[in-house]
Amino acid sequence: MQHPEQPRPVILTGDRTTGPLHLGHYVGSLKNRVALQDSHRQYLLLADAQALTDNAHNPTRVRDNVIEIVLDYLAVGIDPMLTTICVQSHLPALSDLTLLYMNFVTVARLERNPTIKDEIQAREFGRDIPAGFLCYPVAQAADITAFKASIVPVGEDQAPLIEQTNEVVRRINRQAGHDVLLEAQALIPPVGRLPGVDGKEKMSKSQGNAIPLSATPDEIRDAVRRMFTDPNHLRASDPGCVEGNVVFTYLDAFDNEQAVVADLKDRYRRGGLGDSVVKERLDNVLQALLAPIRERRRALARDPGYVISIVKEGTLRSRELTNSTLKEVRTALGLFMLE
Ligand code: ATP
Ligand code: MG
Repeated sequence: MQHPEQPRPVILTGDRTTGPLHLGHYVGSLKNRVALQDSHRQYLLLADAQALTDNAHNPTRVRDNVIEIVLDYLAVGIDPMLTTICVQSHLPALSDLTLLYMNFVTVARLERNPTIKDEIQAREFGRDIPAGFLCYPVAQAADITAFKASIVPVGEDQAPLIEQTNEVVRRINRQAGHDVLLEAQALIPPVGRLPGVDGKEKMSKSQGNAIPLSATPDEIRDAVRRMFTDPNHLRASDPGCVEGNVVFTYLDAFDNEQAVVADLKDRYRRGGLGDSVVKERLDNVLQALLAPIRERRRALARDPGYVISIVKEGTLRSRELTNSTLKEVRTALGLFMLE
């Protein structure tokens, strides 16, 4: 228990509004967010401005997924009484801070960011990288610092971005001559990067290899059936490989009975256990996990007015906080102020 008078540490994290949330989000970040909302002051950012950096040609996608993601949040157990949910594009202080921080980062440093490098490759941008995309780590620094967050629950792919945020923080603090901004710490869970159903190293909304939290029972079954296993495990009697076998990776991440999983792994390695048996187990585990989430989501979707009111209220509250941080940073840097 936190002492009631002690300020609770602030969490800021969020999701690009590029598609509904998936199992990777669940293990990578949502579980931590639900667990921490009681003991922390938590803000969740619907990152629609960041989503636009690689979706400028498809604003409808970016818009429509704002509410889809709020439904996912509420369905997994985010409580709007404990967590503030807000929209990035409606917090002008975030853009102001981004513009300011851009002067404290070099293009070379942005190009060296390993996550950005991977994402540029995955999106096949070549040399045609949208400037907004290259600079989104700076916007992320603005997001985290504007909320004065010290903890950021994220998947492993975000670690280099938090590192870059902290570099900006140190530069601004050095220029200001005192610590106006806080450094933040990434909180990465044991399964920091869930692979895609196709065996690619990361399940991503943009890669078409995800199982959404809203998947129907048939969609779950289909995805598990098509899931990448050991390509050399042709007959059930053959010894199989567990490492890199997505079905086992998912069992590690989602099956609560790890002793059963360990036994299945032994039998699979020795030979004599067919893919279909392991897949059936995974199908049961995922159906049980997702059924209540899907039901809650469906019920909430019937009340769009309620969902919108949560986002409106959260965004208004966040606007005050982020505006006040912007003012502090401008003052600390000794910039011109009219009031
Ligand atoms: P996009 O493909 O549009 O980038 P995404 O699936 O990568 O979408 P984001 O909105 O970029 O999702 O990420 C939101 C949060 O979820 C981040 O903290 C990220 O680290 C985490 N996350 C996303 N995918 C995974 C995954 N496969 N495993 C673990 N964490 C993940
Ligand atoms: Mg991503």
